[in-house]
Amino acid sequence: MSEVSIRPALITNVLPESIAAEVGFEAGDRLVSINGQRPRDLIDYQFLCADEVLDLEVIDTAGKTHQVEIEKDYDEDLGLEFESALFDGLIQCNNRCPFCFIDQQPPGKRQSLYYKDDDYRLSFLYGSYLTLTNLTQREWDRIEQMRLSPLYVSVHATEPDVRSRLLKNPRAGQLLDQLRWFKKRRLQIHAQVVVCPGINDGTHLERTLLDLASFHKGEVPTVASVAVVPVGLTRFRPDEDELIPVTPEKAAEVIQQVQLLQDKFRASLDTTFAWLADEWFLIAGQELPPTSHYEDYPQLGNGVGSIRRFLQEFQETAKAKLPPQVSPSRKFTWVVGNAVEKAFQPLVQQLNQVKGLTVNLVALNSHYWGQNITVTGLLTGQDLLQGLQGKDVGDRILLPSVMLKHDDARFLDDMTVEELATQLRTPILPVTGIEALIKSCIS
Ligand code: SF4
Repeated sequence: MSEVSIRPALITNVLPESIAAEVGFEAGDRLVSINGQRPRDLIDYQFLCADEVLDLEVIDTAGKTHQVEIEKDYDEDLGLEFESALFDGLIQCNNRCPFCFIDQQPPGKRQSLYYKDDDYRLSFLYGSYLTLTNLTQREWDRIEQMRLSPLYVSVHATEPDVRSRLLKNPRAGQLLDQLRWFKKRRLQIHAQVVVCPGINDGTHLERTLLDLASFHKGEVPTVASVAVVPVGLTRFRPDEDELIPVTPEKAAEVIQQVQLLQDKFRASLDTTFAWLADEWFLIAGQELPPTSHYEDYPQLGNGVGSIRRFLQEFQETAKAKLPPQVSPSRKFTWVVGNAVEKAFQPLVQQLNQVKGLTVNLVALNSHYWGQNITVTGLLTGQDLLQGLQGKDVGDRILLPSVMLKHDDARFLDDMTVEELATQLRTPILPVTGIEALIKSCIS
C-alpha cells in the first residue's frame, strides 16, 4: 500500500491529564506523522511512539498544520484515542464462506454491518479471526518484522480441498505451508474450526485437529490452542448454501469425538489443546465441563468456557458484594438468551435471597434470526420487544451489553436501546460484567 492511501488519523478523544492533553491536543485533530513516518495503523503508532523524543505533524480542526515536539519516557502513552485502529482502511475478505454471518443478515441495514474484514492487524490488536488468504508479501514481511504474534486464524480444515471448498477460495489450500512459515519464525497462532456437518466433520475434523496438534511442540508452540465451534445459521441464509444445522445428536457426536482426542492431547501434549465451545453442550443438553477443565481459558473469545467462568466469577463477586437486604424494595428483569437459561438459575436464586430484591430471569430465543436456541449476544431489539411486551418487567430491565454492537446503544437489528425502552415504557440499563450487574441490583 502506498503512503498516499494512509489518511491522517482522526483523534476522537484526548485522555484527561495525559501528555496529549497537556500539549493541547483536541478531539477532531488529525495526526499526520511521527518523526517523519506516517503510521498505517495503531500498530505503527504504538511502535513509533516508543521513543523518548517525538516530532508530531498534526492538522487541527481548522485545517492548520502544526509541528509538535514531545519529550517523554519511551513507554509513556500519549493519551490519544482514534476513530479507527486502521488509518489506511480495512483489509477486506476475499472468501465466500457459506456460513458467513455477514451474508446471513437481512438486507437494508446500516452499511457497517456488511463489512467483511479479514485483517491481520485487527487479529493482532483485538483477537479477531482471519484466514490468511489475502496477505500480500509486504504484509507477511510486516508480520515477521514486527513479530505480530499471536494471530487468530480461522482454519476450519487442514486438508486443502476441504478448506478451499469451505472458504470458496483456491488460496485457502495453502494453510499447512503457512503454519510451517509461522513455525520457522517462532510466531504463534490460536486456531478456530467452525464445524459444518457433512463438510468438515467426522474424519475431516479428526485430521484437522491432529494436524494442528502436530504444530503444538516446543517452547513456543506454533498452534497454541484450537476452538471447535458449531456453525451458526440464521433464517436469512441463502437457499443454495449446502449447510446443515447442528442437531442435538450431531452435537453429542462431536463432543464425544473431540473429548477422545482431548484425552490423547492431554497425555501427549500436556494440555487439552482443542476446546469445545459452550454451545455444543447447550445444543446437546449436556452439563458444561467444570472450571478446572479450561486451564487458563485460552479460547474465551470463542465462547469456550465463558459460561463456566461467568458462573464462577458471579459466585465470588456475589459472596463479597451482595448485602442481606436492600431498601427500598425493587423488582428487575434480567434478559438473556435461552441458551443459558438453565445455567443461570442458581445465580437468580442467589440474587433473590437478598431481602427486598426480586430479579426475574427472562430467557428468550431469537425469532429475528429464526433460532430455537440463542446465545445472549445475538438477541435483537425486536426479540426483546416481542418477548417482553405486555409482561410485568418491574422497575427496570437489566440488559447484558453483549447484545449491543461495539458499545453503541444499538442492537444487531439497528433498534436503539432508547427506542426499546420507550416501547416497553421501562428504563433499560445496559450492564457490562458481573460487578456492574450486581451493583445495578443493589445500589
Ligand atoms: S472469511 Fe469470514 S468474513 Fe470472509 S466470507 Fe468467510 S466468514 Fe465471512
